[in-house]
Amino acid sequence: MKWVASFYNPRLSRSPVLYDTTLRDGEQTPGVAFSPEQKASIALALEEAGVRELEAGFPAVSEGEREAIGAVLESCSRARIYVLCRARREDIDLAMRCGAENVAIFTSVSELHLRYKMRRPLESVRREALDALEYAVEHGLRVSFSTEDATRTRPDVLTSLYLEAEALGARRVTVSDTAGVASPQAVAHIVAMLRSRLRRAAVAVHTHNDFGLATANALAGVAAGAEVVATTVNGIGERAGNASLEEVVMALEVLYGVPTGIRLEKLGEISELVARCSGIPIHPGKPIVGRNAFTHESGVHVAAVLENPLTYEPFLPELVGRKRRIVLGKHSGRRAVAAKLEEMGLEPEGGGIRRLLEEVKRLGEGGVRVTEDSLLRMAGDGGGAG
Ligand code: MN
Repeated sequence: MKWVASFYNPRLSRSPVLYDTTLRDGEQTPGVAFSPEQKASIALALEEAGVRELEAGFPAVSEGEREAIGAVLESCSRARIYVLCRARREDIDLAMRCGAENVAIFTSVSELHLRYKMRRPLESVRREALDALEYAVEHGLRVSFSTEDATRTRPDVLTSLYLEAEALGARRVTVSDTAGVASPQAVAHIVAMLRSRLRRAAVAVHTHNDFGLATANALAGVAAGAEVVATTVNGIGERAGNASLEEVVMALEVLYGVPTGIRLEKLGEISELVARCSGIPIHPGKPIVGRNAFTHESGVHVAAVLENPLTYEPFLPELVGRKRRIVLGKHSGRRAVAAKLEEMGLEPEGGGIRRLLEEVKRLGEGGVRVTEDSLLRMAGDGGGAG
């Protein structure tokens, strides 16, 4: 048994395609810039882990970015690599010059964006966007078409634009919650609305974490019929970030019961790779990959976990290439001290453990971290273990 999920969870019948945008939206995290070598190594790690689609970057950004996209295209052989383009012919040209065969074209048609960002009427933006789409299709590119801020775009405007995009050859349209302002119910509603109108084009969801709902929104979109889900490793990205790859994958596998095709045991090391390359450390409480995700201190929990970890763990940490940790502190119990001593190759015995536990709790209460070294010293001081 590797996990026991709630039997109240609904099941999904199929897994969505994972579209990872760590190299584009993830890189748009304030202060983050990946070198071409870093982009290539992250892309390769994702491909080896079984991620089928990657967004490598935004060619219009700079010469260095185009070089990095080239490096990604060179290092990956199986994953489908997309690049981001504004709805302009010159951006499509730049994408082709990088060697890209798949483009994600975006525009903006929400009232807010039309008024303050595009500063043009809907009709002009619409024409320009569809022109860029046609241009890309004519040049043999596979096109994913999206509007930023889709979750604040009027349903008639969004639906008619996406129907036109489909008719002109877009293979996919994306529901982007660019400002992170949609609830899971809203995302599900928009996806279902589009799914009921579109015929061939796939629907993707791209969600942001401004309310801590990016993963929930991504999964709500998938459950409502989205065939593609955008993620980033560690959930990095603009502002509060995106839906995290490791959360979405593990939720699909464990909670919804669908195989994603991802080599789950790779998730831990990919998370560390991206933390190193981005300079953004993993929060200890980060689900799936955080330092505390499989760490136990409370005496009640530790005693049960030693009998069967699934009493207090969502799944076994080895599944994602992680290890369980038992730490000693104020909340520790006898079983934890005994287990720790055993782990350190010491032979615990009754009275000594009680004395050590008192000492551990006293230190823990004072806010001191009880390390293996200090436990060893304590054990050496008064016997009880040897
Ligand atoms: Mn985004």
